Amino acid sequence: MMSLISVVAVLVVALVAGPAWAALKVTVTPSAVRQGDVALIVVTGAAGAPEMDGSLAGRPFFFFPYADGYAALIGIDLEARPGKTPWRLGYVDGTGAPRKAAGMITVKARKFPVQHLSLPKAMVDLSPDDERRANAEAARLRTLFGTIGPERLWRGRFTTPVASHAKAEGFGSRRIINGKPRSPHSGADFSAPAGTSVVASGRGRVALVVEFFFGGRLVALDHGEGLYTLYMHLDRADVAEGALVERGSIIGAVGNSGRATGPHLHWAAQLRGARIDPDALLKLPVRN
Ligand SMILES: [Zn+2]
Repeated sequence: MMSLISVVAVLVVALVAGPAWAALKVTVTPSAVRQGDVALIVVTGAAGAPEMDGSLAGRPFFFFPYADGYAALIGIDLEARPGKTPWRLGYVDGTGAPRKAAGMITVKARKFPVQHLSLPKAMVDLSPDDERRANAEAARLRTLFGTIGPERLWRGRFTTPVASHAKAEGFGSRRIINGKPRSPHSGADFSAPAGTSVVASGRGRVALVVEFFFGGRLVALDHGEGLYTLYMHLDRADVAEGALVERGSIIGAVGNSGRATGPHLHWAAQLRGARIDPDALLKLPVRN
């Protein structure tokens, strides 16, 4: 907690503060973002602004009223290019005059573990049928993650999906199997005994309850405005598509369905196409 608070930094003060206007204040937390991070951008000093809009590298923010201003989530894909990324925001004030601010967010590279494995060919190569099935399922997930619900359903802090002291591990790790690089591991794994309850990490709507080749029995939650969390390898799912679930309510149980080497929960999160570290969601210092 303390470390999070200590990294909060005021990044930019408005470029256009008229004499009668309080300066626009923009903070990004954490102030140093890494690949796979999710950050909160908070704008204050825009009292009376009927709405706020803006973008990061040309991709729109989804602002919501927050404290006495506005806030939006920023997702940094785990393979985002390190370096400076420009943001801008603006609104029309009570007199009809446009107000604007702009700045830069620096994305830092993160060191992800690399694992080299040699496995028998039969264990690695899929049959044409399985490959077709896995590709169709991956496409279905991409379509879902590309769907941006208009309403923010999540509220306040996110919670760990399993009641366990085990740390979520393996986000972003890269596997090179028989010399061929695989796509990076885009979730975090909690090892937990089969049957351990899995809860919704935040309020949202059940978008998908399916049985996939790799992910096994899985539940996807739509938290609105392009934020999704994904729970894989479940032993059972306790929710139906379309249901609205509250943070902390049981959605299923840990298992080893699909391609899993043992019972564990693969927990992943996406924000408007950015594969983010679900652990970073837990650290988001967001009020209700
Ligand atoms: Zn995993």
